[in-house]
Amino acid sequence: MFAERLEKVDREIREACEKAGRRREDVTLIAVSKTNPAEAVREAFACGQIDFGENKAQEMVAKKAECPDGVRWHFIGNLQKNKVKYVVGNAVMIHSVSSVPLAAEIERIAAKKDLTVSVLAEVNIADEATKHGIGREEAVELVRAMGEMPHLSVEGLMCIAPPVEDPEENRPYFAAMRELLNEINAMGLPGVRLHELSMGMSGDYAVAAEEGATFVRVGTALFGARKYPI
Ligand SMILES: *Cc1c(COP(=O)(O)O)cnc(C)c1O
Repeated sequence: MFAERLEKVDREIREACEKAGRRREDVTLIAVSKTNPAEAVREAFACGQIDFGENKAQEMVAKKAECPDGVRWHFIGNLQKNKVKYVVGNAVMIHSVSSVPLAAEIERIAAKKDLTVSVLAEVNIADEATKHGIGREEAVELVRAMGEMPHLSVEGLMCIAPPVEDPEENRPYFAAMRELLNEINAMGLPGVRLHELSMGMSGDYAVAAEEGATFVRVGTALFGARKYPI
């Protein structure tokens, strides 16, 4: 079941890369396992899937304890400051940093644990009032601030594109993310050299891969419909 879905998603990413003149290995597939049990992660890992995404801190930590050490956990959800302690040291990357105070709390906990945490700035590229993440100008300020935090390694940008019928509708947003990344790099901010774009979900990961995603975050296309709403 999972193996077949994985093969299909992998093939579509490969085709998107070919179309765009990119290499398949430049795009990491994150299997978003939120709401699925540890058993589903173990089954997927046995199929060769290594990177998994979770959006709740304690759920991630609990699942991690029940899965092989080789699993790479990505934190992709709205993170409350009092939950940072669960994520730092357990996630290989925090994709969803959306404010300077949150970044500062991650820095504080990382310093205490003597760790460096890889982070992305979550950008609300479509400017939807209801979504998490920040506008483009605030993103520059957040990236600048994170670049100056010694225990953060700021690697790139993340977005959640709007739900759409036709994934082509999100192509301009993905392209805008790539342009924003290039603009920020051109500013030459201290400690900042962005190279990751986390964008694309079950409905639009192929378009995101064509537009330069280095991480695509795919849940339902791999695991089927979620067991409970998020
Ligand atoms: C749930 C989730 C995904 C995966 O969504 P699907 O549409 O099931 O692929 C990706 N990114 C984030 C931040 C999520 O919360």
